[in-house]
Amino acid sequence: MSLFSRPIGSCINCRREVKKNAFMVLKDGNYVCNSCVAALDIDKEIIGFLTASELLARSKTRELNKRAFLKLCPTTTQTIDNAKLLVYDNEKAWAFVFPGDDNPTIFRYDDIQSFDITEDGNSITSGSFGSAALGSFLAGNVGAIVGAVIGKKTTKNTVSWIRLTVNLNNKFRRQLKIRYDFNNETTKDEAQYIKISNSIRTILNTFKIMYEKSNANQKTYLQDNIEVNNAEAIRKYKQLLDDGIISQIEFEEKKNALLGISL
Ligand SMILES: [Zn+2]
Repeated sequence: MSLFSRPIGSCINCRREVKKNAFMVLKDGNYVCNSCVAALDIDKEIIGFLTASELLARSKTRELNKRAFLKLCPTTTQTIDNAKLLVYDNEKAWAFVFPGDDNPTIFRYDDIQSFDITEDGNSITSGSFGSAALGSFLAGNVGAIVGAVIGKKTTKNTVSWIRLTVNLNNKFRRQLKIRYDFNNETTKDEAQYIKISNSIRTILNTFKIMYEKSNANQKTYLQDNIEVNNAEAIRKYKQLLDDGIISQIEFEEKKNALLGISL
């Protein structure tokens, strides 16, 4: 082994020489330094799936993102600890700003998928933002997060940290993690716990509203309904065929039309 460290290579983004234990490897073998990963706001788990050109494309959008962030005016702002959820309802966009971040990724409503709440590593509740479970969770009593949701007694009454994870449908960001550490282990009836769990509820509710307003989910919802209606219509025509009211040819025509098959 050499006493002199040999250069490993240079970062594909900033071109600086990468230092040992301070870089990641892209799908195509190129390197990116850890400070660029942070500046580009890409989840570390995704780096190994990206090519150099995808990473450089992300790099180009960061300056635009920063300008948009400075220009946009939030229609709603919610705070949790020192972090903020900013909602831009006119643009159907949002950002979550941790203290000191001057270029948070601006996400679309369409990016919102599902959530998970964890206390001390145990999942308390999770699901889609469209799920009924979330509705009942949000309607639950203040400070009664655990028992109200999963309907069983927890053996542990103290909590040292709580984390909300929002799963995203975004090429560079799959998860937004909002973690809060209590100074001391807190019990669930203490003011600090109630305050933070209420903030999480408020934020979850805002994500739910954005999710419901997103175009992608509306399209999925409509598409699902169209498919269900068409399937029911086909079943009715099949009944008419079986009853001898329409012919096989007439049935096939109706079925193909409903399935969107052109002859
Ligand atoms: Zn770099």
